[in-house]
Amino acid sequence: MNGMVIIGAGEAGTRAAFALRETGFCGPVTLTGAEPHLPYERPPLSKPLDGAVQMKTICSAAALKAAGIDYLPGVPVTQIDTARRHLLLGDGRTILYDSLLLATGARPRRLACHGAERALDLRTFADAAAIFSRANAGGSVAIIGGGLIGMELAAVLRVRGMSVSIIEAAAKPLGRAVPARFAASLHARHLEEGVRFHLGTGVGEIASDAVVLADGTRVPADIVVAAIGVVPDTALAGAAGLAVSNGILTDAFLRTSDPHILAAGDCAAIAQPDGGHMRFESWRNARSQAETAARNMTGASETFAAIPWFWSDQYDLGLQVAGLPLPEYRIVLRRLGEGALEFYLDGGRLVAAAGLGIGTSLAREIKLAEMLIAAGISPDPANLADPAVNLKALLKSARAA
Ligand SMILES: Cc1cc2nc3c(=O)[nH]c(=O)nc-3n(C[C@H](O)[C@H](O)[C@H](O)COP(=O)(O)OP(=O)(O)OC[C@H]3O[C@@H](n4cnc5c(N)ncnc54)[C@H](O)[C@@H]3O)c2cc1C
Repeated sequence: MNGMVIIGAGEAGTRAAFALRETGFCGPVTLTGAEPHLPYERPPLSKPLDGAVQMKTICSAAALKAAGIDYLPGVPVTQIDTARRHLLLGDGRTILYDSLLLATGARPRRLACHGAERALDLRTFADAAAIFSRANAGGSVAIIGGGLIGMELAAVLRVRGMSVSIIEAAAKPLGRAVPARFAASLHARHLEEGVRFHLGTGVGEIASDAVVLADGTRVPADIVVAAIGVVPDTALAGAAGLAVSNGILTDAFLRTSDPHILAAGDCAAIAQPDGGHMRFESWRNARSQAETAARNMTGASETFAAIPWFWSDQYDLGLQVAGLPLPEYRIVLRRLGEGALEFYLDGGRLVAAAGLGIGTSLAREIKLAEMLIAAGISPDPANLADPAVNLKALLKSARAA
């Protein structure tokens, strides 16, 4: 038996290695990672406590050893031979596999303007360390991209006493994944904190001391960070002849176009029941896909059907979004003290919920909303809007019905 091999020791790959053991699989498990460290969490990189970036490992070396996971850090896999079912590592070694999981994640999208090489990325621990080692109080930073990571970084650097500018091509920040009401609240909070926004504008050039916008405006910056999204890391899969598009294409069971290879996490684009493929870029998605993939590698036939969920922390505000809150859905608002929840109804059925409040104050409500979504119910919108109606009671009556 050659066993199970996982390429990529990020959130998905590491979770899959342990999940293989949780299924009772006792053959060889090999986890390969291009980065030199123990597997670590990425979300804390843009939310460092006291402005000091710390590595939060996913597991210890002892835990990997105790689980019998052969961890090979700091060596990229450079080739997959699907016919012979073997991998070539960067140091010349080869590994045979029975079943292979691709968990190669994503890479920062690169700017194409003149001086683009001056911009720092924020994806790895090394990236975060490079940014925070230069982020001095009184200095200035220009962040290109007003998405979740750019806005989180802006909050942390502003609190650290930097002058912060965000340059965003769209007319508003956070337009992609965050419901409009909460995107507007977060934008307003950044303005209150003194972050400067340059919206609806492209970048002409990155000079040594400024970002020059398309209209010639100079935005002074000691540091420039590019946070314009990521592209799935499909290079290895594509070179091996697997089907790739915006991600490594899988069926609903997370199997790629090769029956011995599965994919999970940021790199994977999963077939959807109503056609097409969808890629999710979030921490919980990486973990839940990894768990499904591990079970399917060991003989199960489970479709991946978890409800998408992500969070973002900016200043003392916590955002949580469960499901996919599409703009065409009916929105029901529930105001709650200093925060608010939005519920999204598709033809009456609850399909998504989002909340913005202080810290994790709305976490319980979002958890209950997730359970209501999973129960597939069509609640009375008046009940959803009324803060006096307990979501737990709604769930109970839905289950009883
Ligand atoms: C700064 C930051 C903040 C974030 N904050 C949040 C948040 O608040 N909430 C949230 O839900 N999500 C957040 N995310 C997203 C979340 O961290 C990712 O969705 C998650 O890490 C994806 O896990 P993954 O294992 O699919 O990919 P990754 O974590 O990218 O891991 C992939 C690994 O594969 C390795 N690899 C690639 N190619 C090879 C190869 N050929 N050989 C060997 N190894 C290879 C890479 O080096 C990498 O270590 C954040 C991400 C970042 C970068």
